[in-house]
Amino acid sequence: MLLAFSGAYLFALSVLHLIPEVYASNVKWIGAYVLLGFFLQIILEVLSQGIEHGHIHVHQDHAHAFPMAMMTGLCIHSFLEGMPLVQTFGGTATQASLLFGIILHHVPVALALMSMLLQSHISKNAAVFYLFIFALMAPLGAFASQAISESTMKELSGFFDCIMAVVIGIFLHISTTILFENDKDHRFNYFKLLIIMLGAGLAFLAM
Ligand SMILES: [Zn+2]
Ligand SMILES: [Zn+2]
Repeated sequence: MLLAFSGAYLFALSVLHLIPEVYASNVKWIGAYVLLGFFLQIILEVLSQGIEHGHIHVHQDHAHAFPMAMMTGLCIHSFLEGMPLVQTFGGTATQASLLFGIILHHVPVALALMSMLLQSHISKNAAVFYLFIFALMAPLGAFASQAISESTMKELSGFFDCIMAVVIGIFLHISTTILFENDKDHRFNYFKLLIIMLGAGLAFLAM
């Protein structure tokens, strides 16, 4: 239910706030950056096995090796998502709803990652350490893009619009996948529909 809620929130946030904001910018071919993010996420999921959806797709027999590729894919995903979290892009409201969206869908991801780590042959302390590395990635992305914007004298609003467009592509991919996977048998579930409406409604209220 948390997954369905976060998927609906991310999708509505992208459609209601983020997409109109970047398409209003002066960047040429801004739509191409959205597509770039979408296809980049497809490639990242080859590494991460789709743990970004907050569940484990890996076959249990293969689950005892340390999930290095998964960590790598997930960390790149998280780093990229953190990059638009700087004051230069959008207003405070956009920043807050973006931050909330990232936190919301990374809670089930952290749970899935931790259970993967505990199943592999590493100590509990090492598992907590890798969880901490994952938690660091989004803030690190934000600091990196902040540093890039401060180190150059040029007007960089276009740079942030491009990064935001890439992250929108990532959001569109994971949010729709979460919603589709959440409803595998196409059974109608009133409660889940309500949860999805609430997730989308929350993004609407944040305008
Ligand atoms: Zn999935
Ligand atoms: Zn994410």
